[in-house]
Amino acid sequence: MSGGGERGYARGVERTIGPDSEVDLDRRPRFPVPKGWKRPSRKRVRAIRDRLRELYGSRRNDPHDDPVHELVLTILSQNTNDNNRDVAYRRLRDRLGDWDSIRDAPAEEVVEAIRPGGLANIKGPRIQQVLAELGPEADLDWLRDAPRQEAVDYLTSLPGVGRKTAACVMIFALDRPEVPVDTHVHRVGGRLGLFPPGISLEGAHDEMLAITDRDDAYELHMNLIAHGRRICRPRPRCGECALARMCVARRAGLVDPVA
Ligand code: SF4
Repeated sequence: MSGGGERGYARGVERTIGPDSEVDLDRRPRFPVPKGWKRPSRKRVRAIRDRLRELYGSRRNDPHDDPVHELVLTILSQNTNDNNRDVAYRRLRDRLGDWDSIRDAPAEEVVEAIRPGGLANIKGPRIQQVLAELGPEADLDWLRDAPRQEAVDYLTSLPGVGRKTAACVMIFALDRPEVPVDTHVHRVGGRLGLFPPGISLEGAHDEMLAITDRDDAYELHMNLIAHGRRICRPRPRCGECALARMCVARRAGLVDPVA
């Protein structure tokens, strides 16, 4: 994703989303339900998963078990591509070392290190603020076993950390089911009727989690992004779309496809 990149591509590691018995969302939608909108059934979500799988393959998560790494990486990913993000991250660690050293470094050194990632004057102070909040020897390993809501609440209480960043930490680092909603997932998911068009990103995160089987969270995230990048772009290529018959927005004439 824009935040997570297509990090799962071709890793081929057979893993399943880890045990999370406490996906504790209230199953009722947490937003004013628009007239005529109905939450999709699990059967429909699975049918969309299957069609996307035919197009983009089955994906398995390969969590790296380092939530602080993921948190900083996701902050760096905002408004840039995966390559620039990775260059910025590498320079930050190579130049300044461990998290304590990065937290205590002069602000301008952090900004200079991450400059290739863009928005360095915003991201640099944000990273240092977050590390200061985490305290000495920054450690988020406790998130692995914390109740889900407590973990998400803690992450989103950190300076500048939103729901998408929290979701990335949870799934990419810890293998806990979340479907990070970036611009692609938001656009494609809305058009397919997974959540109402125009719903907030926060609301979309809750909805995706409520309708997605735990073991499908990572795959659905990755394949919705792939579809958003290749076919269901802002100006969609509906004529080439294998999901056209399942598409709520197309049926309702709400999209303006490429001719
Ligand atoms: S039919 Fe068009 S709008 Fe619907 S999912 Fe496919 S490309 Fe997107």
